[in-house]
Amino acid sequence: MNHLFRVKMAKQKAEAFLRDEGLERLPVDPFAIAEDRGIVVQPKPDTADGVSGMLLRHGNVFGIMYATYVQSEGFQRFSVAHELGHYFLEGHVDHVLKDGVHESRAGFVSGDPFELEADAFAAGLLMPSGFFRRAIARRDPGLGIVYELSDDCRTSLTATAIRYAELTGDAVAVVVSTRGIIDYCILSEAMKTLPGLAFIRKGTDVPSGTATAAFASVPENVSAGAAVDEETLVRFWLGGTSNAKIREQTIGLGTYGKCLTVLSSGTIGQVEVEDEADEEDALVESWTPRLRR
Ligand SMILES: [Zn+2]
Repeated sequence: MNHLFRVKMAKQKAEAFLRDEGLERLPVDPFAIAEDRGIVVQPKPDTADGVSGMLLRHGNVFGIMYATYVQSEGFQRFSVAHELGHYFLEGHVDHVLKDGVHESRAGFVSGDPFELEADAFAAGLLMPSGFFRRAIARRDPGLGIVYELSDDCRTSLTATAIRYAELTGDAVAVVVSTRGIIDYCILSEAMKTLPGLAFIRKGTDVPSGTATAAFASVPENVSAGAAVDEETLVRFWLGGTSNAKIREQTIGLGTYGKCLTVLSSGTIGQVEVEDEADEEDALVESWTPRLRR
């Protein structure tokens, strides 16, 4: 099986699991799922730097530890759901638990297919596509949907925004930056249809003159979780030849110096987003960045 197919299957497996177990209500509780399988889940305050969670095995007894250095419910739930991915996905236990202990790293941009599959499983488990599609159909595009679904799913705003960009038929871009430098940018399928786009690269500056650049230049905005909501032109952010207007909504994510920006338009043009089975292209771009924060 090729890698993309396996990542896709991991997400589908999580959604199928929810259906089979009758767990189709939000928020999905990864702690309860673990408990139901007899897996002991414990916080681990003294994890090594960057370790988000661990899966352990002693004989037929499994345990999950999750890091607590990030005081975020979304981060911790995603970490536990990631370890459940290793537990449930075929071939994972044998591969990742060769030594009896597996350590997972948050934000570790890894080409390791097992890590990507476990992240995909966690995303499908905590953020089932059906709920996203219904919220998307109900509301205008933008950060409001992310707030609503983050609240419903109890997932971090960034993980929710990434899933939103993946599933929406509207033109949406999700940009995460740290102190004015781009961490990553994810475009929805409709946004990708704009002509001549210059894809925003990791490590480059947030485009100067944008509301986000001005916002991020004041550290207190970011640490206090302030927000801006303005209208701008899509080309100021993404280049290209379109003069279409977009909404630019940015919030400070607190103590990490990070900002989340959601660019959205209800008019640029919409695409029919296929079911997960046909989303291979989106998967390539969606599962490499940090998903937990
Ligand atoms: Zn892992």
